[in-house]
Amino acid sequence: MECWAAILGDCDDIPSREHYISDSIFEGETITAFGLPWCNDKPISIGLGAATAKILCRKHNQALSDFDNEASKLSKFITLNIFDRPLVDDTTELNGRIIEKWSLKTLFNLGWLGALDRPSFTRLTPPRPIVECLFSGAHVPEGAGLYLVSGGLTNENYKTGLAWGSVRNHQTQKVLGMTFTFNGLRFVVSLLPTPGEEKIRMNGVVDGFDYGSANVTYRPRNITFGSNTAGRKIINLVW
Ligand SMILES: [Zn+2]
Repeated sequence: MECWAAILGDCDDIPSREHYISDSIFEGETITAFGLPWCNDKPISIGLGAATAKILCRKHNQALSDFDNEASKLSKFITLNIFDRPLVDDTTELNGRIIEKWSLKTLFNLGWLGALDRPSFTRLTPPRPIVECLFSGAHVPEGAGLYLVSGGLTNENYKTGLAWGSVRNHQTQKVLGMTFTFNGLRFVVSLLPTPGEEKIRMNGVVDGFDYGSANVTYRPRNITFGSNTAGRKIINLVW
C-alpha cells in the first residue's frame, strides 16, 4: 500500500489518487513546480487538477480533507484583497492549527514523492508523533509546525499558487522541514519540536530571499498586509 500514514497500521486497502497540492485551494490554477522527481532539473507547469499521485489510502485521504477547506479560505481572502478589493480594509479569522496541519500534510505529500530531496529523490518518512497529531485532535508538538517569515505582500509579489523548497540539516542532509510561499505569503513548516527561529535565519539567501534578516514568527496570531495607500488587511489566526 502506498500511503504515508501506513505507520498508523489502520489503512484500508483502497488506494486513492490524492492531490498532493490541494486543487480546491488554488481553484484549478497551474503552478510552477520545481523538484518533483519527474521534472529533472527544469521547472514545469502543472495543472493542479492533474497533480495527483498514489500517496495516501482512501481512508487516510478522506480523514484529512477538512484541512483543505481552511487553507482554501486563506487563499480566497488573499486573492480577493489583492486583486478585487485592494483599497478597502478587511479582516478574517482562521484556525491556525488547521492551517498548520494542512502545511504538514502538504510537506508529507511532497516528501513522500521525493520532491524535497533533490537530486536523489529519497522518500521522506513522516515522523510518527506528527502523523498521529494529524489524524487525531492532538496539537502538533511545541516548536514544530508553522512559522511566518516577514516580507510585505503587495500585488507586485503576489503570485497565485504554491512554491516550495526543503530545509535540511547541513551535515546530514536530513529533511527538517519545508519553506513555502502561499499566494505570496512566506512560511516555513518545521518537523523539529524545538524553537526554529534561529535555524530558519541561518538559511541565509535562498532564491533571492534573505532569511538572515527576516522576522520569523512562530504560530503568528495575525498576519497583516496592504500598504498606506491601499487598505489594511488582517488575518487573525486562532491557536
Ligand atoms: Zn493509509
